Amino acid sequence: LPVVAIVGQPNVGKSTLFNRIINQRLAIVEDKPGVTRDRNYAQAEWLGHKFDLIDTGGITWSGSNIEDEIRAQAEIAIEEADVIVILTSVTNHLTSLDERIAQMLYQTKKPVILAVNKADNPEQRMDIYDFYSLGFGEPIPVSSIHGTGIGDLLDRIVASLPQDLDQNENKQISFSVIGRPNVGKSSIVNQLVGEKRVIVNNEEGTTRDAVDTPFETADGTKFRIVDTAGIRKRGKVYEKTEKYSVMRAMGAIEHSDIVCLVLDADTGIREQDKHVAGYAHEAGRGIIIVVNKWDLPKKNSNSAKEFEQTIRTEFQYLDYAPILFVSAKTGQNLAKIPEMVKQVYRNQQQRIKSSVLNDLLLEASKLVPTPMIKGKRLRVYYMTQVATNPPTFVVFVNDPELMHFSYERFLTNQLRANFDFSGTPIKIIPRKRK
Ligand code: GDP
Repeated sequence: LPVVAIVGQPNVGKSTLFNRIINQRLAIVEDKPGVTRDRNYAQAEWLGHKFDLIDTGGITWSGSNIEDEIRAQAEIAIEEADVIVILTSVTNHLTSLDERIAQMLYQTKKPVILAVNKADNPEQRMDIYDFYSLGFGEPIPVSSIHGTGIGDLLDRIVASLPQDLDQNENKQISFSVIGRPNVGKSSIVNQLVGEKRVIVNNEEGTTRDAVDTPFETADGTKFRIVDTAGIRKRGKVYEKTEKYSVMRAMGAIEHSDIVCLVLDADTGIREQDKHVAGYAHEAGRGIIIVVNKWDLPKKNSNSAKEFEQTIRTEFQYLDYAPILFVSAKTGQNLAKIPEMVKQVYRNQQQRIKSSVLNDLLLEASKLVPTPMIKGKRLRVYYMTQVATNPPTFVVFVNDPELMHFSYERFLTNQLRANFDFSGTPIKIIPRKRK
């Protein structure tokens, strides 16, 4: 869901507005403080548009003097929200703190809506014009206590929401099947999409643009296999050269949500497998490791485990990638490929709320002390997810130089232990709290 954040100096009525908006749909007059007081993240809906609302004022940080808190609020809003509401109060008139907040918000390209609270009567509604000088266009007078003006504010909010977020219904999950020649890529793709359903123009020697192949699983999930032309039988001569196949793979990786790296159980892992895997990892795509030709090796009950061990050793940086053992020849486990692609896709689209992340940070801080470099200790203030695909987290700290990779690794592991991020890389970006 799109995220709307409310920022503002203390006592302008952020929490009242927050409660007012989330209760709007129920039309209940909520005058019991404490009922929703510790809830600072909630789902709201207006005219059929759903969004997540953050009351940044409800999020308090350790050494919270007003300046720090306001900075934190603005940073969260700038990083995380799709739409930002700056709330002021007509009874305060325009203050220097309002101006400070406004200045921080000038940096963002996201829509900012200016609301003036406590405009309880017509006279007060006349006083809102001072606030024009903040530079966010026409101020919207509201009274969070009386509920007036809230509808106008919500109209403005939903009009500013990003358009395309609801259209995931028809989303095709794109994935590519990559690997060195002869591991069985085309055999796998042919099995998945059905030989006859897909006609790839494969005149000898013609280098055509990438051809993607759509297919659908029984549960109605739509997939698109990227660059099927590069995988299927055409161009084998070129594909034999490593440079060609790596280039082709890189192009495919670029255009897919998820990459299936195919290995050959018969020949084992080769140097070229690692090159291809390295590109997929660096591109930040979700990755599934598919061990093909599993019908060939002589096996005992430990074989899969042993092969997996070898993979983990050879591709240490892909420790998050699930492994499937399949045979394009017998069809064993092939149906698990789209299933897993779908799961990894979900994992990489996942968004974790800031409140949950900050609980996790708190727990993490009890487990391991933060690193200290040259007598200076890393301080971690808060964490917020700024992107999906791959899930990307900004961690605000006293000094990014102090974020040792082992601590970054520790945070990544904490995230993986608490949420299902299998198949997707996770990015952590330390940033200095301004
Ligand atoms: P690509 O170059 O990666 O697209 O590989 P191909 O799909 O052309 O397969 C290379 C060779 O391996 C062909 O002779 C396939 O018949 C064979 N092959 C593919 N998958 C399997 C499998 O699961 N088991 C066995 N035994 N052979 C396979």
